[in-house]
Amino acid sequence: MIKEVSNNIYQCEIPLPENPLKILNSYMIIDKNEALIIDTGFNHPASKEVFFRCVETLGINLRKTRVLITHLHADHSGLTYDLYQRGCEILMSEGDGNATLNLLKESTWRKLKEQMKSYGIDVENDFFDEHPGKKYAPAGDFPFTKVKEGGILEIGPYRLKVISVPGHTPDMINLYDEKYQIYFSADHVLASITPNIGYWGPEHPGILKQYIDSLNKILPLRVNEMYPSHRVIIKDHKKRIHELKKHHRRRLNEVKSIILQGTVEMTIEEIAAGMSWKIPFDSWKDFPPAQKAFALGEAMSHVEYLIENKEIRHWSHIDDVLVKQESE
Ligand SMILES: [Zn+2]
Repeated sequence: MIKEVSNNIYQCEIPLPENPLKILNSYMIIDKNEALIIDTGFNHPASKEVFFRCVETLGINLRKTRVLITHLHADHSGLTYDLYQRGCEILMSEGDGNATLNLLKESTWRKLKEQMKSYGIDVENDFFDEHPGKKYAPAGDFPFTKVKEGGILEIGPYRLKVISVPGHTPDMINLYDEKYQIYFSADHVLASITPNIGYWGPEHPGILKQYIDSLNKILPLRVNEMYPSHRVIIKDHKKRIHELKKHHRRRLNEVKSIILQGTVEMTIEEIAAGMSWKIPFDSWKDFPPAQKAFALGEAMSHVEYLIENKEIRHWSHIDDVLVKQESE
């Protein structure tokens, strides 16, 4: 459950109940009386119990601890409110920090539901109630210190540089120590699963392109070990980045052929339903709401990329929902 992956850097496996990801890797870096924790797990009793047991086992003084949250997702940010209450300083990027607080408001979920409706999805009243982002979100508001590209977090011998890697979320951050050649990749690069690249609305255009740019950005770094938020440590980050880029190229080709073989007007739902998914459900209509939302976002980000890159001509998306052939 707790493993020392580098000198005074501990990887703690926090369970994520009812979630296909199963485990979040929280990293706890210790120096004398001080600590830096990276990500927390869900605000769920099972995650919480293990998280605080790790804190106790490692003898961490929460009053002298900074907690860096790499991005807004609840499996990373779930316990921020509890940690703030216990005296920790919370560090986040401006974009994902504000978005985490927004997701605590009922009005944000109402807006998301409207967006789903515009995708043509039948949304009942409780559509998002089982969504982990709502169910296991932080218990309340918390103030946070903004961190951004180039900022340095020092702890013991480590000088961790903040690297901005938009894509998986609009303002996700990673940490990199140049001297020790270690890199905390959050959900930007994962070993055996491909990070979900969704759609974040017209305020964040070109998110898939941003993701690929963020992969290219870290490709040349000298990295001995990459510490991701899920699954195993990555030894050859360059190889893994090439695989992820190939995955999205295949995905783009798949979406392109669905569109070109389809009718002159298609909904994003029709495109998403035509894509292949590694999910144990026979048909699109059996997907649970949260999985549907993820799949629609992924379809949309790929459609948007194809349009922007002029790979599908005479197509455009109207109200972010329809892909339609222009009449000539
Ligand atoms: Zn995530």
